[in-house]
Amino acid sequence: MPKIRFDADDLSTEAASEQWLYEVCDRAGSSVPFACKAGACGTCATEVLSGFEALGEQSAREVRTLRAQGLDPARFRLPCLCDVGGDVTFGKSPHAEGGAALQTHEVVVESFRPLNLTVCEVRFFVETPSFDFRPGQYMIFHLPRRSEGKVIRRSYSISTPPSDRRHFEICVRAVAGGFGSNYIHRLRPGRRLRVEGPYGDFLLDGSGDKEILMIATGTGMSPIRSMLTHLLHHRSDRRVRLFFGVRHESDLFYTDLLRGLEAHHPSFEYRLTLSQPSARGWSGHSGRVTDLIDSELTERDAQNTQVYLCGSQAMIESSCQKLRQLGFADEDLFFENFY
Ligand SMILES: Cc1cc2nc3c(=O)[nH]c(=O)nc-3n(C[C@H](O)[C@H](O)[C@H](O)COP(=O)(O)OP(=O)(O)OC[C@H]3O[C@@H](n4cnc5c(N)ncnc54)[C@H](O)[C@@H]3O)c2cc1C
Repeated sequence: MPKIRFDADDLSTEAASEQWLYEVCDRAGSSVPFACKAGACGTCATEVLSGFEALGEQSAREVRTLRAQGLDPARFRLPCLCDVGGDVTFGKSPHAEGGAALQTHEVVVESFRPLNLTVCEVRFFVETPSFDFRPGQYMIFHLPRRSEGKVIRRSYSISTPPSDRRHFEICVRAVAGGFGSNYIHRLRPGRRLRVEGPYGDFLLDGSGDKEILMIATGTGMSPIRSMLTHLLHHRSDRRVRLFFGVRHESDLFYTDLLRGLEAHHPSFEYRLTLSQPSARGWSGHSGRVTDLIDSELTERDAQNTQVYLCGSQAMIESSCQKLRQLGFADEDLFFENFY
């Protein structure tokens, strides 16, 4: 079995071939810190002392994220993107406790609002005057887990536009048994937290003049709301369509906000769909957001539309497959998957 050594922790372990390195680091109790687990933030960047080639080829995303951190892609890897392919010895993780400082900020909860039974909205005041972000980006929250004396990092997308740089909001679904999401649901005004970022390359391309289609499910609405309100505040005349899907009526949120934006901005159209509406009482569209791709889009849209998708990996994969079949080019598809 391949041997994985963490020199900085003086730890060694055995791993199965093709096992995800995140699992190996976690099980071994290494000090390699993780946040997005998707190669976007670079938190887990770690020096490789030997066995570099056993970690497989580097993707363009891995190289880009390492360079953005000022780290040499020939010496460092992102374990969250690697599988075990042989013996490896890791050295230092620059972002481990005591490592190089990340861009962190103190924030104070200004308001907490339940949006439905499982999704809440939290508004933060940012103490750093120079704080800035772009629509679509996310923050990593440092959440203290007192029982283990550890800080758990979780990523949450900013849902507000950057016009107000001293505040941002997030909306978070409580995951059953999940530490981070339930911690966020227990926040109340006055609580202080440390956050890191902004991070992410799921960014609105504000330079083009193509039409925009946004597709979101659940709290995937969060970065989409930031992009949408940014565009509408700037009185963009680009046509913007939003397909938003949730399961039941009880999962709905931001319905009044989105209907209000649609009423005030002729360039904005909003389509809502429920995948499992109750037997009676729902007169709107039923089905998945991918059904809206079939019913609302044509090959003509593929030529002049950029698409921004956020939600589960399964939704993003099946939407992109349908969009590519219609003729959408990969360079017009932008996405962020939460899970
Ligand atoms: C870039 C990025 C941005 C994100 N932005 C948001 C956001 O704006 N709003 C938001 O609500 N979430 C967002 N997430 C997801 C968020 O970071 C956490 O993964 C999520 O809140 C679960 O964390 P947890 O600590 O509660 O659960 P964990 O303790 O990590 O997991 C508990 C259990 O739930 C499962 N699980 C974990 N996540 C999910 C999920 N999303 N759905 C179903 N089961 C799950 C796990 O497999 C595990 O069994 C984002 C993720 C990424 C990578």
